[in-house]
Amino acid sequence: VTSEFALIARYFARPAPSGMLGPGDDCALLSVPDGHELAVATDMLLEGRHFLPDIDPADLAYKALAVNLSDLAAMGAQPLGCLLALGLEMVDPDWLQRFSDSLHALAGESGCPLLGGDTTRSLQGRVICVTVLGQVPRGRALRRDAAHPGDDIWITGVLGAPDIALRMLQGRLARDEAVLAATRPLLERPEPPLAFAPQLCGLAHAALDISDGLLQDLGHILKASACGAVLRYPHLPEHPALATLEPALRRQAVLAGGDVYQLCFTAPAAHRERLAGLAGDAGVRLSRVGHIVAEPGLTVLDADDRPMTLSARGFDHFP
Ligand code: ADP
Ligand code: MG
Repeated sequence: VTSEFALIARYFARPAPSGMLGPGDDCALLSVPDGHELAVATDMLLEGRHFLPDIDPADLAYKALAVNLSDLAAMGAQPLGCLLALGLEMVDPDWLQRFSDSLHALAGESGCPLLGGDTTRSLQGRVICVTVLGQVPRGRALRRDAAHPGDDIWITGVLGAPDIALRMLQGRLARDEAVLAATRPLLERPEPPLAFAPQLCGLAHAALDISDGLLQDLGHILKASACGAVLRYPHLPEHPALATLEPALRRQAVLAGGDVYQLCFTAPAAHRERLAGLAGDAGVRLSRVGHIVAEPGLTVLDADDRPMTLSARGFDHFP
């Protein structure tokens, strides 16, 4: 590949879906259907900070897009398309082929075609910035400030696996090959509930995706909505591979482990059955883990309904 334009043409420019203008002009063009709003999110990944130089480029491209799709899901938005801003120190055809194949594969599966971007030379390390565009029915987006006292708190998927995999890969936790094999896919290939999430509009109140850890992320909903929450620890969906680990480590991973890219949302109790039905139809695991209260603060109850206490290093249990 000789020029920037040849690189873009070879690896990134693909025909846009009909009705849209994709790569090749000064802007991409697309429309949002009547009665909808545009939902936009962007996420930047820096080599050395968010990923290591030797990461499989296919995993890197997948995750760069998946974490953005997760943001759309967290608003109840449906993907329309994405943009890719790329900084590269050099042109490595093999790396670019694997990266772009993986990106186009997830883009195709998720109905989020690559519509444009920017490509520049980076002085140090790779920079990958994906922007997603989505649509959501006007006024129906699942915002963080919309939780009400009395709402149930729900979680999609399972918790804890990416945190355990990351600890083992970084050498912060003794490597157990069986546990790593079971948890690593959730770290490298998160699967946010993309088809299920838009169905929450009109049923759920507040939502977000769990990226920094359940307690911290739920805390954002509570702050924005000026309310509190009670969680029931035994109802939290722990990944089964954590069962052989130390209890304190499991609690830490479940309550504070990041990189989950599943949803935490609140909804009136009247919608319980409907939500369970929709999740079943979508093949999404859905757990009801607590409820919203008027009084600020976050309480986690153990199996005996006793509050667990947060220590500086995570959750400890003081009977
Ligand atoms: P401009 O000079 O107008 O910014 P560029 O030369 O940067 O345009 O890009 C030319 C075209 O290629 C644009 O349509 C842009 O959206 C697209 N493009 C550039 N880089 C990428 C990329 N990494 N992925 C997809 N499209 C890209
Ligand atoms: Mg440009």
